[in-house]
This record gives sequence, C-alpha cells and structure tokens, in this order.
Amino acid sequence: MNAPLTLAAFAAMDVGVLKGIGPKRQKGLADLEITSLYDVLTTYPRRYIDRTNQASIADLSLGEDGMVMVEVENVTSRQTRNRKSMVFVDVSDGTGRMRITFFNQPWRTRQLHAGMTAIVFGRCEDYRGSRQMTNPVVDLVGDQTGRIVPVYPNSEKAGIGTAELSKAVGEVLRRSGQRGFAEPLPAALLGRHDLVGRSQALRAIHAPETMGQVADAKRRLIYDELFRIQVALVRRKMQLAATTVGVPHEPNGVLVDGFFAGLPFALTSAQQRTIAEVFADLAGAAPMHRLLQGDVGAGKTIVAVAAMLAAVQSGHQAALMAPTEVLAEQHHASVREMLDGLEVADAGTLAGTRPLGVGLLSNRTTAAGRRKIEAGLAEGRIDLLIGTHALIQDGVNFPSLGMVVIDEQHRFGVEQRAALRSKGAGEAVPDVLVMTATPIPRTAAMTVYGDLDVSVLDELPPGRTPIDTRWVRLPFEGAEGELDLTGVDPAAEPGMWQHIRAEVEAGRQVYVVTPLVEESAKLEASSAEETLVRLQADELNGLRLGLLHGRVPSADKETTMASFRRGEIDVLVATTVIEVGVDVPNATVMTILDADRFGIAQLHQLRGRVGRGSHASFCYLVAAASNPIAEQRLEAMVATTDGFELAEVDLELRGEGTIMGERQKGRSDLKLASLRRDRYWVEKAREDAIELLTADPELADHAILAEEIEALLADDETDFLLKS
Ligand code: ADP
Ligand code: MG
Repeated sequence: MNAPLTLAAFAAMDVGVLKGIGPKRQKGLADLEITSLYDVLTTYPRRYIDRTNQASIADLSLGEDGMVMVEVENVTSRQTRNRKSMVFVDVSDGTGRMRITFFNQPWRTRQLHAGMTAIVFGRCEDYRGSRQMTNPVVDLVGDQTGRIVPVYPNSEKAGIGTAELSKAVGEVLRRSGQRGFAEPLPAALLGRHDLVGRSQALRAIHAPETMGQVADAKRRLIYDELFRIQVALVRRKMQLAATTVGVPHEPNGVLVDGFFAGLPFALTSAQQRTIAEVFADLAGAAPMHRLLQGDVGAGKTIVAVAAMLAAVQSGHQAALMAPTEVLAEQHHASVREMLDGLEVADAGTLAGTRPLGVGLLSNRTTAAGRRKIEAGLAEGRIDLLIGTHALIQDGVNFPSLGMVVIDEQHRFGVEQRAALRSKGAGEAVPDVLVMTATPIPRTAAMTVYGDLDVSVLDELPPGRTPIDTRWVRLPFEGAEGELDLTGVDPAAEPGMWQHIRAEVEAGRQVYVVTPLVEESAKLEASSAEETLVRLQADELNGLRLGLLHGRVPSADKETTMASFRRGEIDVLVATTVIEVGVDVPNATVMTILDADRFGIAQLHQLRGRVGRGSHASFCYLVAAASNPIAEQRLEAMVATTDGFELAEVDLELRGEGTIMGERQKGRSDLKLASLRRDRYWVEKAREDAIELLTADPELADHAILAEEIEALLADDETDFLLKS
C-alpha cells in the first residue's frame, strides 16, 4: 500500500488517531468543525510570520511598520476616565526596549505575561522620547524556529490555538510523507493554468520556505475547491438533462403573438434576450431549469407570462407560485389585465375558441372557490393558475402541467419547489422558471445556482426616475447611555416628515416601514402598531394612515392594500410584508425606520417599492450608525441604486458564507476560495468542468476526482442538488 493518499481517505480518518489528541482536545477541535484528518489538513494558516523580514528593536524605523521578536518584561493596566481600558506591556529584545499600549483590549493582561516570547507587528512611534507601538498585531510563537511560521486560527473558547493546530497538521504531513497526496487533476489542466501539484501545494501552504511558495499553493488549492463544486454541479445538470423527459412546447404561436402585440410598451432589449433564452429552452426536449435574475422593477413578470402562454398555446397548463397573498393577488390582477381578450383554441365550443382561463388560489380562497378551481383544472378550463403555497396542497392537480414559475424563489424551500413541479399528471417534467429580485454577482450565481441556467434582466424599462436616497442619521446611544452625535443633523428628521406631508399634499403616497423584530412576529406587530399611533398623533397628524403587518388577518390585509392602491390611504405603515412585489406607482416615498437593522438585499427590495411611476421618488433611511458594517450598508444604499453593485458590496460585507448559505452547498468546501476575489477562477473552473465531463460524463477516467467529490461534498448537499 504505497499509493498516494486521497483526500477521501483523509476524510474517513478521525482526528483521534493523532498523537496527543485525547477526548478533551477532540471536543475542542469538534467545536471548530475539525473532526477528520481532512479537516486538519484543510485548516489553513490565517497568515504567516515571515522572519526573513524580522527586525530588532534598535533597527525599527520610526513611523514605519515593522516586526520584532521580543520578550515580555512587564504588563500593567488601568482604566481611563471614560472607563476605557488601557494595557501597557514593556518588552525588550537585547538591542533595545519598547512600550506597547493596547486600547480597549483588556484581555491582553491574560494573554501576555513576563518572560513570554512574542512577535509583534506594528508601527513604531516615538512617545516622549521612547519607542512605542499602539495596538500592534501579536503572535505567540512558542518555540517555533522556521523562517516562515504559519499562524493558525486561535479559539480561546475551544481551547485550541495555533500551537495545537500546527502540531496536528505537522503530524498529518509527516505521516503521509512517503506516499504523498494523490493528484486528481489531469496533467493538461495543471499545465493550462500553470498549477503546482497537490502534494507540493499542501506541503507549501503549511510549511513554506518562501512566501512565493505560499502564493502558488493557494492558487492551486483555490482552483481545487472551485473545480470540485463545478464538476459536481455540471455533472448533475448533464445527468438531469439526459434522464428526464420534458414537455415539448411551441413558443411561436397566436397566443404569444397576441400577448406581445397587446402590450402597451415595447420590450426592453434585456427582456427580448431573456425571452429568447427561455423560448429556446421551451422548444427543447429536456426540461428547462432556469433562474431569472432581475432587479426590482426590471419587468420579470412579462417574461414569466410569455413562458406560461407558450405552454398554454401548446395545449398545456401553467402555474405561478408567489410567496405572499398580497403578491399572488397582485399578480393575478395584473396578469388578468394583460391577458384580457386573449382566446385559446377549444374544439368543444361552437366558435372553436374560448377565453383564456386564469385562476387564483390562496389561503383566502373559500372551500367552494377551491372546489371550483380544482374542477376547472381537471376539466382543462383553467389554463393558468396563480397562487401561494396553496398551489401545492393535496387535491390541486393539473392534468397537463407544462410550465411552472416560482416568483421570489428565495422565499421558498427546495421541497416546495419540487412539490409544485411534481403536480403534473404524467412522467414528463414541466419546464421551470424561478425568478429572483435578489441579484447576486454572476460568478456567485455560477456556484450557488450552478445547476441552473441563468438569465439576467440587467436593464430597467425606460422612463424610470432614479430614486433619491437619503440617510437620516440619528444620534447613536452607547451602552452607557452616552450619545454620539457625529454627522447628525437635528433638522433632518423633522425635514423628512415635512417632505412626506408635502408629497401627500401633492397627491402622492408614502410607505413607512417599521423596525424589524426578527425574534417575534408579535413584537414586530406591536411595534408597527405603536408607530402608527405615534405618527397619527404627532408627525403625520391629519393624514390617512393604514397599517399592514404579519398578524393582520388576510382579509383586512387585502382590504388595506386595495384602499392603498385606490389612493384612499396616504401613508401605509407596514412591516416587511410589503417587501416583495407590491406595485403602486403613485407611491413616491419609502421611509425605513431603524434601517440599520436591515440587510442590503432587504433595503434594496423595500426601496424598489417606489420609483415605479413618473414622479420623482425618495427613500429615507432613518438610523443611527450603530456599527461600522451597518454604516457601510447605509452608505452603499445612498451611493447607488444598482442592485448588482449592491450585491457586490453585500458579498464583501457579509462574506461568502451567507451567499453559500442560500443553498447550503459548497459550504464546507470553500475554505480558501472567495467567489468575489476569485471570479476569474470560478469561470475557468466551470469551463474546465464542462470540458472534462463532456469527454468523460461518468468520470470513469477520473476516479480520484470522482471519489473526492463524493466524499467531500456532504450528503445533504448532494440531496439538495437532486431536489432542486
Ligand atoms: P419585477 O421584475 O420587479 O417583477 P414587474 O414585472 O412587476 O417587475 O414590472 C414592473 C413594472 O414595469 C410593471 O408595472 C410592468 O408593467 C412595467 N414594465 C415591464 N416591462 C416594461 C417595459 N418593457 N416597458 C415599460 N414598462 C414595463
Ligand atoms: Mg415581480
């Protein structure tokens, strides 16, 4: 048994086999999600101490960054008048002495003790004639002596630090020394991208001799991570296409033509392109699995309706599922209006045609109404059914389901999507179009939705007025009750309410979104109610206010929405129930209270409720700068209305984890790669995966790769792929 070791083999071995890892350490490692030798091997250094750059205290230039290895002589601490902590550490290295000052890092007194050796990086300054560093980076290196020392993640809570990890990694590398690591990539790919071999990469990332080796190793390992995911996704996609029977459609015909001819506007070129992509899928034999990404207001509904009509004119039925009743009812109303007067062929009638049948099914539909719909579906009188989750309940059956559209797909679980798709009678799998207004960057989409084809509506219909977004900055109240007034203009908030009154005066309408209470719908509802009462009594006294939140009964919700649409309510005070899809072109102001609590995607969605008509529109974000991330989010919202640009900022601020979290896939496999930074490699990996699988669909000639994908992309993740 001298064959090189595969990652699958490492994944099958428990950390317990390592020397010095008893039950306690093992538990600590498990807290860090390190349970197998593969996890150890892929716990990569956070950074490196490059001792080739190390200076001595005497050599440090004032005002410049430098690194020195020092001995701790003395640690003291005190509190300032405003109760901030300061820790002073005196250090020396034989060439001189220096003082280190830490602000607001009281735990340094526990970390550093006299006699310890530490490496500090920071800027050396002169303070009253002696050398000093303020808040430097500190690494405890113990007795490490290499020229480049890897620094691993430290977890005080798990009781595992860089020393333990470095020891465990060292042992794994030593024990696999002779055999080396199996190479899953064909030589042609290594050559094409000038990548180092896997053995070399894994050694160099943990025990490099130069920083150049680290860079090469990272490049290789990043490619590995991205390539594995792409091979899994592309393979799944090819298998689906090969094994499922679709419903054939004829996209060109009278119904679709009649629909386009009746539209009161010209399609944008993005809509034309997207419709062409969808139609090409519909005409094909394999079922469509397409994601339509388009910013709020980009006109996704038109694309969906065109696709559904293509199915109907080919003799099938279509379903559109929306996440909320408000949205389903609105879709129903607007689709009915768009399709008014369209007829479908029906040999059973005298004229040979009948009006297109459009139905609505939600939780508000009465039992009698439901029976009518079920009968209408069974008898083929309903061509197009729009609704909420109610569509996937038992008893709702389509004799000939050809097309499924899912709006705001992120609001639905995989099971719900799969359930709707399986509502058809026969073996054939209907075409599926999922739509989202949460733009994610192209390369992230390639990974998150890698088994779907993606169309992008990246153009808004002409004539939209850009939304003027303003941040109304409130004072920030610290834990001690002290107020931070930085950047606060006391006139801004009263000015905003005045502006709102002026808009209402001019006949426009306004949304006020009340604070998000994630933990409790009940608290959220009462906060919305309180806001309504306060505004009614005070800032918006005399205006007609309406209230909408998750706990308002559905019937009242619809009544309120209808009055708002008719202009009988001036200001709609609401929670995020209005986040998706609500379309009232006369509304020109969106005010979001406690906007720092919302994520970028949500703020952008909410803002998209205005700017839908010809009047100038405004979005007010009312919030304190409660933390630096929130501040950057709010600033980004003010700076741009481009959803894709905001998605990039969001990805940057939130990190990759959350994007991947949307589909839970690749979560465990993206350790070094960043979908944002490594865009180039995402695309290359996808191209390479397609090329490899086209030549070898079963991975018969790439056994190591196949085994590694199987072992490393966890079961729940593959399940996920199967169901989507
Ligand atoms: P979303 O992509 O947010 O779902 P909708 O489909 O609701 O957007 O469209 C938003 C509004 O834009 C609707 O009132 C729709 O009628 C209108 N619209 C769609 N396409 C066009 C177009 N090509 N030109 C003008 N208006 C359009
Ligand atoms: Mg929409």
